[in-house]
Amino acid sequence: MTNNDFMLSVEDLTVSFDGFKAVDALNLYVDRNELRVVIGPNGAGKTTLLDLICGKTKATAGSIRFKGKELTKLAEHDIVRSGVGRKFQNPSIYENLSVFENLEISFPRGRGVFGSLAFRRTPDVVERVQAVAEEIFLADHLDMEAGLLSHGQKQWLEIGMLLIQSPELLMLDEPVAGMSVKERELTAELLKRICLNRSVIVIEHDMDFVQRIAHKVTVLHQGKMLAEGSMEKVQADPRVIEVYLGH
Ligand code: ADP
Ligand code: MG
Repeated sequence: MTNNDFMLSVEDLTVSFDGFKAVDALNLYVDRNELRVVIGPNGAGKTTLLDLICGKTKATAGSIRFKGKELTKLAEHDIVRSGVGRKFQNPSIYENLSVFENLEISFPRGRGVFGSLAFRRTPDVVERVQAVAEEIFLADHLDMEAGLLSHGQKQWLEIGMLLIQSPELLMLDEPVAGMSVKERELTAELLKRICLNRSVIVIEHDMDFVQRIAHKVTVLHQGKMLAEGSMEKVQADPRVIEVYLGH
């Protein structure tokens, strides 16, 4: 198998902030339809890794290939356009718009607040919005102002705003932080379902949640990979227990 068979191949990836390597010669390979969870102590470089993949931060060295295409030279919006969606820790939704409008505005043809002014609400857009709303458990809240949703529902809405763009790689930074037990269960269900059609990378600290969703776990420490494999394997790894799970 060549490396181009992976959905995502990260090789020798390094970013240096004034000499401090937040990500240090990292290799990471994610399969199609894989749900990978990245764990590790605070400051390990997890968020920076996602910043590098989505182009928010430029690599100092190394390569990031998505479906064989090099991303490190592309601008952030071109990376989005090539099929990479990324959710940040805090949901960025339009609080004054309805759930429906938030999803509609994120539909590829109507992207952006200004683009939406000239956006026509065609039957296929309405249908797609309804289908995504169903997936993210908000079908009964389409007319609700997004600012009135619970914290967990806002997180789902933002996932929906990414799903409506049909990304082939979806990256989520701590998606269940602040969610209720029930919302966590539903989110696990949602993530298992959405990786049937794409690859997903999740950063998460809640180990029960990780256990429930992960195909494979990558443990980062000081910008490097400390361990990788099944949940059982990394949980039993003495180095992982020492720097992360033991605390
Ligand atoms: P994690 O998400 O694993 O908690 P981060 O990726 O946010 O860790 O941060 C990794 C390290 O890189 C931290 O020490 C952080 O302070 C540093 N860092 C992240 N972004 C920058 C930046 N833009 N400039 C300088 N240092 C940064
Ligand atoms: Mg982080």
